[in-house]
Amino acid sequence: MEVKTSLLDNMIGVGDMVLLEPLSEDSFIENLRNRFDHNEIYTYIGSVVISMNPYRSLPIFNPDKVEEYRNRNFYELSPHIYALADEAYRSLRDQDKDQCILITGESGAGKTEASKLVMSYVAAVCGKGQEVNKVKEQLLQSNPVLEAFGNAKTVRNDNSSRFGKYMDIEFDFKGDPLGGVISNYLLEKSRVVKQPRGERNFHVFYQLLSGASDDTLKKLKLDRDFSKYNYLSLDSAAVNGLDDAANFRTVKNAMQIVGFMEDEVQSVLELVAAVLKLGNIEFKPESRCNGTDESRIKDKNGEFDLLGIEQSVLERAFSYRTVEAKLEKVSTTLNVAQAYYARDALAKNLYSRLFSWLVTRINESIKVTRHKVMGVLDIYGFEIFEENSFEQFIINYCNEKLQQIFIELTLREEQEEYIREGIEWTNIEYFNNAIICDLIENHQSGILAMLDEECLRPGTVTDETFLDKLNTICAEHQHFESRLSKNSKYITDHSLPHTCFRIQHYAGKVLYRAEGFVDKNNDLLYRDLSQAMYKANHSLIKQLFPEGNPAKVNLKRPPTAGFQFKASVGTLMRNLQTKNPNYIRCIKPNDKKASHIFTDSLVCHQVRYLGLMENVRVRRAGYAFRQAYEPCLERYKMLCKRTWPHWSGPLFFLEERRRQCLQNLATLIQKIYRGWKCRTHFLLLKKSQIVVS
Ligand code: ADP
Ligand code: MG
Repeated sequence: MEVKTSLLDNMIGVGDMVLLEPLSEDSFIENLRNRFDHNEIYTYIGSVVISMNPYRSLPIFNPDKVEEYRNRNFYELSPHIYALADEAYRSLRDQDKDQCILITGESGAGKTEASKLVMSYVAAVCGKGQEVNKVKEQLLQSNPVLEAFGNAKTVRNDNSSRFGKYMDIEFDFKGDPLGGVISNYLLEKSRVVKQPRGERNFHVFYQLLSGASDDTLKKLKLDRDFSKYNYLSLDSAAVNGLDDAANFRTVKNAMQIVGFMEDEVQSVLELVAAVLKLGNIEFKPESRCNGTDESRIKDKNGEFDLLGIEQSVLERAFSYRTVEAKLEKVSTTLNVAQAYYARDALAKNLYSRLFSWLVTRINESIKVTRHKVMGVLDIYGFEIFEENSFEQFIINYCNEKLQQIFIELTLREEQEEYIREGIEWTNIEYFNNAIICDLIENHQSGILAMLDEECLRPGTVTDETFLDKLNTICAEHQHFESRLSKNSKYITDHSLPHTCFRIQHYAGKVLYRAEGFVDKNNDLLYRDLSQAMYKANHSLIKQLFPEGNPAKVNLKRPPTAGFQFKASVGTLMRNLQTKNPNYIRCIKPNDKKASHIFTDSLVCHQVRYLGLMENVRVRRAGYAFRQAYEPCLERYKMLCKRTWPHWSGPLFFLEERRRQCLQNLATLIQKIYRGWKCRTHFLLLKKSQIVVS
């Protein structure tokens, strides 16, 4: 007799951690390692997918695999990201539930790759036809465009996303894609003017110089040689396995597919070139009769032809700063250091505004009115560097918020629901990071609020005054550490440098250097510069600096970077909460970007802070699958006479009958399964749900 082995028998280790026996942190890690060693990079915790970065291409992402997972039940095949994508897509299409895919993990763990796999899976399984294919192509091709401008090589990841991205893919009632909307979150613009050692500027600069034709470069007045540009770091200009020239062609092609016109692409490249050239402007002091030094551009070799700005206008903007109050206008001269500061601020602003414009422009191509929505969130991962600044602070804050959503939905609400439903439940302890979110975002005493207060306060504001304020107000917070100012009675860590504070994040302790916080949060661009930009004979630049329009002078201070970020993260979180969440938890197996290496301690650290053990425990104690009565009745009513009788009679009674059917269904299920201990069968929650595990 032929014996059919079940899929479970063939499985390496245990595919779903919920079934792992005995469960301990060691067995959990061992299972991950065992599976990883056998190229099984995905493992489930119930419906949550753990994804280990293989750091090499595996033959498990291809059209055959897509077919294999298509329309199959989640637990039917071995764990795969395609199973999650399929499940999400089918609930969206068949049950009309908006979905979101939340991808988390630290930098280099594989989030961006995962988001692209999800998108390509959905594109492969949803409708066909010329129009639909065009939409799909546009959605997929937005990736290379945004990656060129928003990703860079870092120590952690050769293609690290330096911005957060949330993309809603919109479908019609049949489940065919209609379009999408992308939201971008705070680009790390400081990278434009300076990169940490061993890191690069954004890819697009290198791509343009390596990949553009001689003719294009000539028109843009650019030199192919990276070393000619101050803003490009040299020690890591060439990255193994990264073909800048080929990528440039991919990006240009992608821009065309997304719907950029020829002249728009040209304008974008002109701006990229302008940023590079800005970095080459140098200043020298010129003594004035009153004994002060005023900055002058050193070598006027026509760097600015491209921007369509008269040189004298720009030169003036780099030499003077005008402060406008209600009644008066005061002009002060800039010294050389201030001129360099102004130059860098302009370059950062130019680039980040260009980036936001690209997102808006892509949205124009792909936007439609929504019907059903699947959101894919791929945001910068948690970062701990030797030197952490405002950017890391913002990035880590965002990761705290995502962890908070995970905790809320998979740990807290789940447990509360069992209790609400009157099911016997032993509480499972977990660390709730709400307290850290509060430390950062509380609108009165949170770090962001204090930073804003400092930025808006008249008088001398420095990073030190900001730090002093933190030291006094946050001193008692258990997740905050600093070397305290002398008048505080709380003393924490004397070994901390004077200029730093430390936050104990859910994912580890991070030491932040306060230097630059005030400035980066202020994000001010001298009005003289925005006015100079507005005068440019270049429609895109003009468009990027609307506040430079003299007719629209606004004396109100623009919102700070921190304030804007907090607001947009708040909107994002509210948006995510309206959707059915699907989680992909990415784990980095080693910090060498190497394949085949699994470092236990590193994995263990991530498993701990991601709360995965708690996740398994809640899942094991609870019920893995549930369905409310209504849809259950809808789906199965025809199976049984008592729930699918032959109705006749006036419509008037329909509602009453429906209620009766629900009642019958409940009694029926109760009758069959009540008291069964085996959790592979239906179990009934008291009030409104049927659960199966
Ligand atoms: P993150 O977005 O979390 O910072 P990425 O998704 O950019 O990380 O992944 C970092 C690198 O790891 C990628 O550039 C790629 O080389 C590798 N990688 C990630 N996921 C996969 C995968 N599923 N298969 C092969 N390589 C991967
Ligand atoms: Mg990424």
